[in-house]
Amino acid sequence: MSTLWNLRFLGVGSAQAVELGSASAALERDGTPLLMIDCGQEALSAYVERYGAMPMAVFVTHAHLDHVAGFERLYYQSLFDPARCGKVRIYCAAALVPILQARLADYPSPLAEGGANFWDAFQLVPVSRGFWHAGLWFDVFGVRHHAPGTAFGIALRGAFLWTGDTRPIPEAVALHADAGETIAHDCALQGNPSHTGLDDLLREYDEATRSRMIIYHYARAEDAVVLRAAGLKVAEAGETWALGPPWSGMQACARAWGHA
Ligand SMILES: [Zn+2]
Repeated sequence: MSTLWNLRFLGVGSAQAVELGSASAALERDGTPLLMIDCGQEALSAYVERYGAMPMAVFVTHAHLDHVAGFERLYYQSLFDPARCGKVRIYCAAALVPILQARLADYPSPLAEGGANFWDAFQLVPVSRGFWHAGLWFDVFGVRHHAPGTAFGIALRGAFLWTGDTRPIPEAVALHADAGETIAHDCALQGNPSHTGLDDLLREYDEATRSRMIIYHYARAEDAVVLRAAGLKVAEAGETWALGPPWSGMQACARAWGHA
């Protein structure tokens, strides 16, 4: 039987839309989570409720709290579990490391009794063009969210591209998702300097590209009705979407490094 690949939306809301969950997903292989994308509070709760365990691998798109606030809980849960301590892989762009340090790890003495550093619980893996995980190559690329160089998307060739919070990024989508990949894209009814609005999405992407998109990061449940009326597919929290089979790791890695 062939392997089944799914993207599970753990949350689909904007920073204010707590009832829709914090924007996050898990890549599943035959129903088993391989990689969590972002770790907001609600997202971590949704992950644990769904899978009955904390994640062993997280990719961080950027350091807004609705994407990283779950890390404190993940820290305590991992530090005191010998099977997890120091083995929970945190993948993030190298440019994001100083910001993560400031947001997560710089609190004086993470344990009141001392004796432990924040990163002791994790295996932090700074990345540039992408990274290897579970035998797969994941592309990482800059997106347009707040200050330049502070937010990143992720793509698994053949399977999916996840924009993270962003304005439209047609050039990155064309580069990293030109082989029929599912595209999970930030979009709300109204755009702003950090996020995509419906008019932005319709202007910046052609119909064929939009037909591969699943919209997330919207503000209210009723907004999904309007987005669907515009011909878009819209994710709801907890849903899975079937993905195409990922490229082999070497094939995808060679492409990322410009050798294919
Ligand atoms: Zn953000």
